[in-house]
Amino acid sequence: MTTVRVIIIGGGIAGLATAVRLINHDIKPVVLEKRPFLGGRAFSFYDRESGEEIDNGQHVFLGACDQFLQYITEIGGADQVSLNKRIGFPVIKRGKTSWIKAKNLPTRIVNLLALLGYNHIGFIGKAQILWGLLLILLCNTKTEAKHDKINFDQWLRNHGQNNETIDNFWNLIVLPSLNDQITAVSAKTGIELFKVALLSSAENPAIGIPLEGLSTLVGENARRYIENNGGEIHTGVAVDSLDFKAERAVGVKSVNGLLFTGDAVVSAVPAAAMLRLKPTKLINSNIFFKAAKYVQTAPIVAIHIWYDRHVMNEPYAAILDSPLQWVFNETMLKSKKDTSQHIVISLSGAWEWKDRPKNELRSIFVEAMKESFPLTREASIEKFTVVKMLDATFRVTPGSRLTRLQQRTPITNFYLAGDWTDTGWPSTMESAVRSGNIAAKFIVEDVNSGTLKR
Ligand SMILES: Cc1cc2nc3c(=O)[nH]c(=O)nc-3n(C[C@H](O)[C@H](O)[C@H](O)COP(=O)(O)OP(=O)(O)OC[C@H]3O[C@@H](n4cnc5c(N)ncnc54)[C@H](O)[C@@H]3O)c2cc1C
Repeated sequence: MTTVRVIIIGGGIAGLATAVRLINHDIKPVVLEKRPFLGGRAFSFYDRESGEEIDNGQHVFLGACDQFLQYITEIGGADQVSLNKRIGFPVIKRGKTSWIKAKNLPTRIVNLLALLGYNHIGFIGKAQILWGLLLILLCNTKTEAKHDKINFDQWLRNHGQNNETIDNFWNLIVLPSLNDQITAVSAKTGIELFKVALLSSAENPAIGIPLEGLSTLVGENARRYIENNGGEIHTGVAVDSLDFKAERAVGVKSVNGLLFTGDAVVSAVPAAAMLRLKPTKLINSNIFFKAAKYVQTAPIVAIHIWYDRHVMNEPYAAILDSPLQWVFNETMLKSKKDTSQHIVISLSGAWEWKDRPKNELRSIFVEAMKESFPLTREASIEKFTVVKMLDATFRVTPGSRLTRLQQRTPITNFYLAGDWTDTGWPSTMESAVRSGNIAAKFIVEDVNSGTLKR
């Protein structure tokens, strides 16, 4: 029997994960990526100014990201990530450090006990947080649509929380996880975040970090796996239109007129790029795709500073009451032996910073570092650079759930993947992998049922 051949538009994590899963079912994937490199929104590059290889933004995952971890293991990257056993990170507030750190025991209660030692919140505040977490545990967001109508800040305030607990705890987790302020994200997503991250298992909230540049970790490992297993990858191919035969998607055409034929097509590009695929009328006139027009995006800005000496002793830290949000010790995370130190300040929901010129960001953030990391006061800055990703993630505002489309579309043999599709997860590498796994599952089902054939 000739193998079924599937054209995948987009070589980001979703497209690559779709390809890997199809290979596991003896289906041949052909990945078409418009840029010269793989990885999509998770890539590394040589920064001309600093002469260093840097990531487009600090990427972190949690122990809960089981499908991402499985995917990384399958493509041979397991030793290029590190995952802690339990939650544990320092929080610096006006020069004082307190940890949210769990003991290495096998029960999820350790996540709650971790809060007891966290001193940026008083005794009453801790009791309020535990109360809020209990209400989240009891909350059924699947059946109660009302949670997608209000923002998480409103929900928390209606359930016993105040400025102290929101600023020093809830938003500390929400802002980097959902890349938006707590007042902007849907209560449904906020509740689900805490259910999965803190209330499900002891391992779920543990922080995981890439140890290699992202292009190696998610890009080149996948390329090797896919090509070694009979798949094809074509970079530098921007897809312009879908090709149909008897109303079935049977291939695509690139902007340069190259034709790639297959038995099915997967769009694994962001919503806006999917809606631009021609014939645009076909997609835009179909009610199924309409909601994708309302997918919104949010920016992330990363500030890279190379100090001439070590100024930070931990691998990462969260900072309160400061423009710094999360600070990563890149030198330590990438196990570099340098005497200098590379620090990355990761700014989520970065509307305030995305249009500011580099010199302005430099003076603000160098000063902020002096306040939270006193060793920087004596240090010299060797290099400084800024990476702005304007459409870093999709937003999870109230109502946005409706914009997340199913991976099987009403167009025969045309499927969707991408972090923004309906996975139940926010805009993450985990969501991208899950979307690819779901798209591949539908394709396999359709092959087995005979709907999709060679
Ligand atoms: C700065 C930053 C920080 C982040 N931090 C984290 C984090 O800490 N943890 C986390 O889990 N996630 C993080 N994310 C989000 C994560 O990177 C994304 O959720 C994930 O990479 C999305 O993958 P995707 O494949 O769905 O989409 P994309 O990565 O957008 O991939 C789509 C691909 O399709 C290609 N494409 C588009 N149009 C066409 C076309 N017409 N023809 C051919 N190819 C096309 C694009 O070039 C791209 O490569 C971050 C993102 C950014 C930008």
